[in-house]
Amino acid sequence: MPSVIERASTGRAKCRACGQAIARGDERFGEALPNAYGDGDAMFWFHVPCAACARPEGLLPVLEQSSVSGKERARLEELARAGVAQGRLCRILRAERASSGRARCRHCRELIEQGAWRISLQIFEEGRFTPVGTIHASCGVGYFGSEPPLERFTLPNNQLSPDELAQVARLMRDGAAHSVQLKGLAKAGTEEPEAKSSRKTS
Ligand SMILES: [Zn+2]
Ligand SMILES: [Zn+2]
Repeated sequence: MPSVIERASTGRAKCRACGQAIARGDERFGEALPNAYGDGDAMFWFHVPCAACARPEGLLPVLEQSSVSGKERARLEELARAGVAQGRLCRILRAERASSGRARCRHCRELIEQGAWRISLQIFEEGRFTPVGTIHASCGVGYFGSEPPLERFTLPNNQLSPDELAQVARLMRDGAAHSVQLKGLAKAGTEEPEAKSSRKTS
């Protein structure tokens, strides 16, 4: 029972990454993984774009053998390769507004204000995705190492309007610019005594 990309013959399977149904007739990725509850392998189903984001190592070799071609294939490969290179990208579940003000950002450890845009994260362990908390949208660049492609926030479990997506993108960019500024200030701060002493001597 090897991993496969095929058209869904029913609409009953749910995508393991986003939790939404995979519509009948849609292309889906089945990843054969060791069965956590018994012998042999079990098949885990994903929307193909969700697999490109969340299970890139499993998807890439199957994608190579598949009939998916052209622009669609290039787009999926790009998403998957980015996830292989920077594994944290695979943790993105969705962007959302914080429903309470009680959760702390996994990156900066500050509380995330109610209503603020945050990115909710999950990790794949033993055949299932487990939520591992959230980060400020403005901490996105710091956490992922670079600005994550917005496409990662347009999967089936992300019903964001273009305006909302633009807000998330702006927060990520502003957050990155702000942290560069802070680093600059910190650097200036450490250099200050030297500057003072040089002033005295001159
Ligand atoms: Zn999905
Ligand atoms: Zn933060």
